Amino acid sequence: MKDNIDVLVFGSSNIDYITYVNELPKPGETVLAMHRERCFGGKGANQCVAASKLGANCALITKLGTDALGEDYLEYLKTLEINLDFVERVESMPTGLAEIIVSDNAENTIIVLPGANSMLRPKDVSRCKKLFKNAKVLMCQLETEQKAVLFALQQFKGISILNASPMPKNINVELITTPTILCINEMEAAQLTEREQVNTLQDAKAAANEIIDKGAKSVIITMGALGAVFLSSTERDVCIHCPAAPVRFLADTSGAGDAFLGSLAYHIAIFPNLHRESHISAANICAAYAVGHRGTQLSFPGPEYAQNDLC
Ligand code: ADP
Repeated sequence: MKDNIDVLVFGSSNIDYITYVNELPKPGETVLAMHRERCFGGKGANQCVAASKLGANCALITKLGTDALGEDYLEYLKTLEINLDFVERVESMPTGLAEIIVSDNAENTIIVLPGANSMLRPKDVSRCKKLFKNAKVLMCQLETEQKAVLFALQQFKGISILNASPMPKNINVELITTPTILCINEMEAAQLTEREQVNTLQDAKAAANEIIDKGAKSVIITMGALGAVFLSSTERDVCIHCPAAPVRFLADTSGAGDAFLGSLAYHIAIFPNLHRESHISAANICAAYAVGHRGTQLSFPGPEYAQNDLC
């Protein structure tokens, strides 16, 4: 496996159980499901696979259980061209699980049981010093311990991206101020800025300003069909809106954010000198492809969707 890593991902791997229903059950209600699928997920692994499918040289630092699910996940990862030298099996914990319920109108509820992911610790950063030194872009999420994620971000000297998802109730402020880019969706932006909602571009721009006030170096708020908004502390007066790419047929929005992040990391690693707006527009194109296809990792586009003529 090559030493020059474009995108290093420090994060979670979950087995997703997705149950499809007409309507999400209310508390105490029982509903009948249409069908259930098992897929490979977890924000860390998803984002790593998204960047790798575009052609990035990726490494994944994650933990799996020694159970059969962990075995299946590892065998699957081995079929991809990802550096797995630091994927560790943990005996004391089961592989992470996510129970996802999706309704006809594409609403979903998700419960994550972190299992082995909760064993990703600061010492795992120290263990992977060489990867941290050589990678161009580091990408983390918050399905693993905040302390470990913060340590990873602090140790990394290249461009770091934190997808602060799921957004904890009391997020450590250093998780906001340390990464080069904080990337969140509209719901997470509302949680972080204690707004009822962030539904419009105007809301998103106001929330982005508030997040920069909290000390973020730069922030991207993804806005579903509206695309994404970007604001940097170095150009505070220009809040940029990058419209979403067109989607012919909306198939499945799960994993849209992960497709966006994987593509963002790929384009930043390969074209470090271009303006962030170009990276975000390229990420919108890949995320639009993903929402036009079913599944999560299965819906991520291949190298033909890498925007190699970015300018
Ligand atoms: P999450 O999956 O985290 O909720 P979003 O819903 O904000 O994230 O979607 C992430 C990105 O996916 C958006 O910024 C956009 O590029 C793309 N996207 C999502 N929904 C659509 C859509 N309906 N049409 C086109 N692009 C979409």
